[in-house]
Amino acid sequence: MEQADVVIVGAGHGGAQAALALRQQGFEGSIVMIGREPEPPYERPPLSKEYLAREKPFERLYIRPPQLWADKQVTLRLATSVTAIDPAAKAVVLDDGSTLGYGSLIWATGGDPRRLACEGAQLIGTHAVRTRADVDQLIREIDAGAKRVVVVGGGYIGLEAAAVLTKLGLSVTLLEALPRVLARVAGEELSAFYEAEHRAQGVDLRTEVTVECIEGADGKVSGVRLADGQVLPCEIVIVGIGIVPAIGPLIEAGAAVGNGVDVDEFCRTSLPDVFAIGDCAAHANGFAEGAVIRLESVQNANDMATTAARAIMGEPQPYKATPWFWSNQYDLRLQTVGLSTGHDATVLRGDPAARSFAVVYLKGGRVIALDCVNAVKDYAQGRKLVENRSAPDVAQLADTGVALKELA
Ligand SMILES: Cc1cc2nc3c(=O)[nH]c(=O)nc-3n(C[C@H](O)[C@H](O)[C@H](O)COP(=O)(O)OP(=O)(O)OC[C@H]3O[C@@H](n4cnc5c(N)ncnc54)[C@H](O)[C@@H]3O)c2cc1C
Repeated sequence: MEQADVVIVGAGHGGAQAALALRQQGFEGSIVMIGREPEPPYERPPLSKEYLAREKPFERLYIRPPQLWADKQVTLRLATSVTAIDPAAKAVVLDDGSTLGYGSLIWATGGDPRRLACEGAQLIGTHAVRTRADVDQLIREIDAGAKRVVVVGGGYIGLEAAAVLTKLGLSVTLLEALPRVLARVAGEELSAFYEAEHRAQGVDLRTEVTVECIEGADGKVSGVRLADGQVLPCEIVIVGIGIVPAIGPLIEAGAAVGNGVDVDEFCRTSLPDVFAIGDCAAHANGFAEGAVIRLESVQNANDMATTAARAIMGEPQPYKATPWFWSNQYDLRLQTVGLSTGHDATVLRGDPAARSFAVVYLKGGRVIALDCVNAVKDYAQGRKLVENRSAPDVAQLADTGVALKELA
């Protein structure tokens, strides 16, 4: 049986950073990285931003120049899936039936897009936005003349896609089942701001709307039928309703799982020498008061990768990284730091009408997160408030004349 000291499953953000972190920390053993997609590791965030807008060619999305992996002696096995894990034999099974033994295994598989559980969800013209292949197919359909798009899901990916497609001149309707967009990740002020912004840009944005089914003709999408019977004619449906962690083989191997695969503070799963990182890893997060959560962000994938690499190197350091995230829509750059879930108060800094402001989230008087829209300074200086759990005076917090660094 072929053998590698470290086998990384998933050649995305977490997998790539795990390999880099191991080499940076002086790991000299063999590393094999197995990825289901055909491309060497590339950045996913531009897929719903500059790549969809065709402002950046794919070659500029590589996390590292493709040649670097060979230079670092990281063996890439692309267009290859791991289908099973044998934790007793310390081996993974690949989709060609071969097995590969490991000293340590890093599971970095992200998630698969959640699909609509309704009739028509498989029709041509229905898309997720998760991989390069998804976006290339979407672009081909636009080039072939598609003009009307229905985006299902008012999370960041759906909103970003809506912004790009509107700018490209398509007619976009966005449907959100909850009473507001971004309901799971942001407070009401931010949701209201983005709803108004999208509507001002021409998006037909509807909340509290349920999709009944996707209608089609000749195997292709022709419209979206809503629960109230209304049909929205369209050629393209984009489904942005979250992901399901890609952990099937871990579950079958007996790993402890919940909302993702459970990991401890060193990114260790319950299986010996098996680590998990990134979107698929459920962990107790100090910025969520120790609640077990999954974070879907580049920050989390990268920092967990470094944590796993340190543990493999015998120099374990617990995962304590400050969560941060960004989203680009139109000319608006949102930057967030901390986790706002569970906040009991918000303070608005600046004027949303001026398109530059921050929402500060408090819990028990302490700052737990900031959402900063075109407000780079507040984002940079607000991080300390989050990390220190500062309890600043609310009037000063709201006063843009007072720099946040003075309140940390
Ligand atoms: C369109 C889009 C926009 C985003 N924008 C932002 C943003 O602005 N800011 C931000 O912080 N985050 C953003 N994210 C989230 C961020 O990209 C993810 O959190 C990050 O990619 C997670 O890294 P990961 O390594 O866990 O998973 P991924 O990067 O998804 O990599 C996992 C890889 O594993 C592969 N895989 C799955 N199962 C197997 C298997 N059994 N065998 C082999 N390979 C397998 C997958 O095909 C995939 O290539 C965005 C995500 C998307 C999709």
